[in-house]
Amino acid sequence: MTNKQLREQAYKTLHDVFGYTAFRPMQEDIIMTLLEGRDAFVLMPTGGGKSICYQIPSLLRDGTGIVVSPLISLMKDQVDSLTACGVRAAYYNSSLKATQAKEVLERFASGELDLLYVAPERLLSKSFMQKMEQVKIAMFAIDEAHCVSQWGHDFRPEYVRLGELREHFPHVPMLALTATADEHTREDVTKRLKLEKARRFVASFDRPNIRYLVAEKRQPLTQILQFLEGWPKASGIIYCLSRKRVEDLAVNLQRHGIRAAAYHAGMPGRTREKVQDDFLRDRVKVIVATIAFGMGVDKPNVRFVIHHDLPKSIESYYQETGRAGRDGLESEALLLYGSGDVNLVRRLIENVENPEQRRVEVHKLNGMVGFAEALTCRRRVLLGYFGEALEEDCGNCDICLDPPETYDATELAELALQCVRELNGEYGMGYVIDVLRGSNNARIREQGHDKLKSYGRGHDINADEWTSILRQLVHHGYFVQDISRRAAMRPTKKAEKIGVSGEPIILARYKPGIRRELRRLGKAKDEALFNKLVELRQQLADEEDMAPHVLFSDVTLTEMSQVKPQDMASLSRISGLGQHKLDAYGERLLALIREHVAESPDAEEQADQDIPKLIAKGPPVNDNQAYTYSLYRKGMSVEENAAHQGISKATVLNHYIALIRAAHYIDVPAYFGDKFDTLMQELDDADPYASLSEIKQDLSIETTNEEFRLLLAWREAIGVA
Ligand code: ADP
Ligand code: ZN
Repeated sequence: MTNKQLREQAYKTLHDVFGYTAFRPMQEDIIMTLLEGRDAFVLMPTGGGKSICYQIPSLLRDGTGIVVSPLISLMKDQVDSLTACGVRAAYYNSSLKATQAKEVLERFASGELDLLYVAPERLLSKSFMQKMEQVKIAMFAIDEAHCVSQWGHDFRPEYVRLGELREHFPHVPMLALTATADEHTREDVTKRLKLEKARRFVASFDRPNIRYLVAEKRQPLTQILQFLEGWPKASGIIYCLSRKRVEDLAVNLQRHGIRAAAYHAGMPGRTREKVQDDFLRDRVKVIVATIAFGMGVDKPNVRFVIHHDLPKSIESYYQETGRAGRDGLESEALLLYGSGDVNLVRRLIENVENPEQRRVEVHKLNGMVGFAEALTCRRRVLLGYFGEALEEDCGNCDICLDPPETYDATELAELALQCVRELNGEYGMGYVIDVLRGSNNARIREQGHDKLKSYGRGHDINADEWTSILRQLVHHGYFVQDISRRAAMRPTKKAEKIGVSGEPIILARYKPGIRRELRRLGKAKDEALFNKLVELRQQLADEEDMAPHVLFSDVTLTEMSQVKPQDMASLSRISGLGQHKLDAYGERLLALIREHVAESPDAEEQADQDIPKLIAKGPPVNDNQAYTYSLYRKGMSVEENAAHQGISKATVLNHYIALIRAAHYIDVPAYFGDKFDTLMQELDDADPYASLSEIKQDLSIETTNEEFRLLLAWREAIGVA
């Protein structure tokens, strides 16, 4: 088969089996590499869409695809999800009874399986290796590949021998996948798996659908309750530093009517399993947990992750927040940040014996504090930490959405410096503030600090505001807090420049409360219909004994509640509905939607309008264009789409043009709104001998070059030009 034919087949499978219209960035190239019989190494963040990269080649190549994964608990969900798409898949691990295991092996031996998930120790058993020699193997996928390396954070001894596969099966293509690997681990993994020649794919670590928010921690319970009001019915995780906090918070949330449950390593294994299962099956909405929770929990529709306490490093923060929004839908990560936490973590670090390790941990904590106190785009700070540079601010973090007001704080900084100096660098932040504000407290009087020149000179600024100022000054490196002496504030060398260099010190204006404002998406979903669909999903999932999200993702339900398809043809255009699911559940979905539309007259108005059929005039779209399309389909406007990806509006419009030329539907009339009809009319009337730039100039409505080309592409695609 030629490359072109292979590519077409991959697209067809993506569409018919999985119900998706476009590949995500890199998926297509990875799949093609395997289809050409070569090895690949893939580093992609959680939720990036790794599974399809081995599922499609396994379906298209002769024989069975073998997937090795250490996470036995996830295998059933994965196999359920494939079975629901009509794929012949099974798993082979220690959770199977002897008769079940035998049956799986028989199906494998008779070549009946497209995919087989295997636990590593089973795979490397003599008998299974022999079996594999006799059966045709399509490919090997090594999931969570970082587990082979001792440098990674999750080393599994049973993974080490996986390198043998390359020797025994030199001609079977192999794919190693991971979401967490630094350079060092990556080298080690490729070496141990003997994948030196593999093509490497390193995806961006950005998770554009996660909105990063940081709020000053004041009254955490109230703040969390307030935050949860914005996410009624949604699933989320709240991380706390200690078991005690976990338990207290879970009880408090339950008292406020929230379906919350606690999870930490001190609970009996059985209880933990039940909590986890209740969460996966949407019986529990909010998990309050220590960091023990998460590894091996693959729930795509977690809408928010809250950090009640400060994580110890950006790596852990990134991994924990990364559990939100794996389905690509809008999600939020909220960090409650209090200076008390910083001191608490610092004290924990002080107990670390090994000085080298202590140094590393302090460094990591400082990185985290830097993130929390940043006044620039959070995503920029986060990705910068992982060595990735953002071209533009992200537009989807608290700083971007609500940029802090800045002001010249030079005089205040001078005052603070004076006070700290007068106190000989021996007192902590709280005391410094008390002196500045002229507090009438006994300790200050006893020490005679009410006689200092700076005493009371900052009385017109409240304590919270002073805290914010001093903290920012620490963050900017003018002061340090000496952890060996109860966090005493001391000026640094840089402080000598305060007020001297003539350069103003610009700080962010203090602002209490959570800075969050949910941006509305372009096409609002019908909440009532969405909720009915969620109920139906629960019912169907119970009938099939599956987790609800395994059957239909939230993306699929959201699209249905936006588009409201009322016949099989429009239903089949919904993302995530392949042929098998349409056959099995299509009628019941349609019945529910039709009933809903009949019951609510205003729903009818917005119901699926007849979408014009577009004619393909251009080449198929590339990954970037496909990604733009997937965001468009989620209802984003051009601006939101651009902000989401950190690209310009013009680039998004260029993607639209390519998409339309490839016969993807983009609602161009809606983009131009009232102006559309006029523009189309004027184009119809244009002088057939005029050049395009002349035509553009003659339009009564000004358009950018991209907008003009968008109109032309549309006319071409609907067949009028
Ligand atoms: P990972 O293994 O990288 O964490 P998954 O393979 O579980 O990610 O994919 C995350 C989600 O994205 C799943 O719900 C999956 O169905 C969906 N997905 C993957 N590829 C596509 C695609 N090309 N179009 C739409 N959705 C996709
Ligand atoms: Zn930002």
